[in-house]
Amino acid sequence: MAVLDLALEPVFDAVIARNPGEPEFHQAVKEVFETLAPVVRKHPEYMDAAIMERLVEPERQLIFRVPWVDDAGDVRLNRGFRVQFNSTLGPYKGGLRFHPSVNLGIIKFLGFEQTFKNALTGMPIGGGKGGADFDPKGKSDAEIMRFCQSYMTELARHIGEYTDVPAGDIGVGGRELGYLFGQYKRLTNRYESGVLTGKGVGWGGSLVRTEATGYGTVFFVDEMLQRHGEALEGKRVVASGSGNVARYAIEKAHQLGATVVACSDSGGYVVDERGIDLDLLTDIKERRRGRVADYAAEKGGSVRHVSGGQIWDVPCDIALPCATQNELDERGAAALVTNGARIVAEGANMPTTPEGVAVLRAGGVLFAPGKAVNAGGVATSALEMQQNASRDSWSFEHTEERLADIMRGIHDRVLDTADAYGVPDDYVAGANIAGVTQVADAMLALGVI
Ligand code: GLU
Repeated sequence: MAVLDLALEPVFDAVIARNPGEPEFHQAVKEVFETLAPVVRKHPEYMDAAIMERLVEPERQLIFRVPWVDDAGDVRLNRGFRVQFNSTLGPYKGGLRFHPSVNLGIIKFLGFEQTFKNALTGMPIGGGKGGADFDPKGKSDAEIMRFCQSYMTELARHIGEYTDVPAGDIGVGGRELGYLFGQYKRLTNRYESGVLTGKGVGWGGSLVRTEATGYGTVFFVDEMLQRHGEALEGKRVVASGSGNVARYAIEKAHQLGATVVACSDSGGYVVDERGIDLDLLTDIKERRRGRVADYAAEKGGSVRHVSGGQIWDVPCDIALPCATQNELDERGAAALVTNGARIVAEGANMPTTPEGVAVLRAGGVLFAPGKAVNAGGVATSALEMQQNASRDSWSFEHTEERLADIMRGIHDRVLDTADAYGVPDDYVAGANIAGVTQVADAMLALGVI
């Protein structure tokens, strides 16, 4: 593991002291700081202006009560969050996560990552993240609606087209965004389309937004392969998760000639050697809100479901962790190395532990981080904001082409930056340095604010 540059050590120590009990946030800051030694050397002006100190301190952190009534008539209570991390490049932008694991530290880590991811897209968006420790699992549609309405009743006063533009993340998809937007509209008496992204295409959403994170992930992998004179055609892929990111990564990988043989959820993973049948998976997960175990039960034959265990034991050329943070540890990484995986590209946010990354790199696996790989989702959100601002809607083909262009641009920028800072082919350092320097330069220009 790299050691921190001397100048960054006190800044990191202060992060730990000021943010106790937030291991994911510490992990995300450390991962970025470990790659910044060449930046500190090249840009003493950043240290003079306390840019690093300011980058790790969110501009604003909101924590609020979310009371709601369940179907039995009982009053229930959750905790809501919105961390407005950095608005140097544009309005705060980032998703909302509804999951029982959500706490302030997790939202902070996500907002921190989002700031640099958004910078990498080249679009005018700052970084933020929010959510609640609400568990959507097993809730009725009416309960989801009441929860979303209560959450938005508080959040509405803090967001806006020019202020902060939330979207979805784990547990927040089209249905939830509909209820959130409906409540915002009712509270404000404004049809302010640009206040949320990931909206339905019939009411201000953008085509390709649903597919964008997964598609973008595969476009990025395609670029990585092309650099090495290879293509996706014929490659064997494993994608963890079975939500939006995994599903559309599977779809695009199949369109480009690869075979995705496994995916998962919190109950286990499923292996289908003929390639995951996306129609069936989508029907189970989206329409029936079922489990991947149902997929194996319905397909039968050689399709198998493994409960527990780790999906990384399934041999593959390319692994796409698309579920959640820290899902791929050193044990999973070792299995991937042993079985000959060549590329690991993160569709989720920080799904690989630092130890996992070290094992992959030592094993010669080409590793690309989420803030570059999965930026297609938020980039397409920025395209949705563009369409909303101009009261326009673009075709699927045009929007997908823009997404593909943006992903190519991110890929090249990451490698060019890595080259320029003396760490060639290092996707982690390239992404961190490109993101940080873009935000830092703009912060210098805007003064001490
Ligand atoms: N939640 C997604 C992410 O992690 C998308 C955020 C957005 O579209 O604002 O980047």
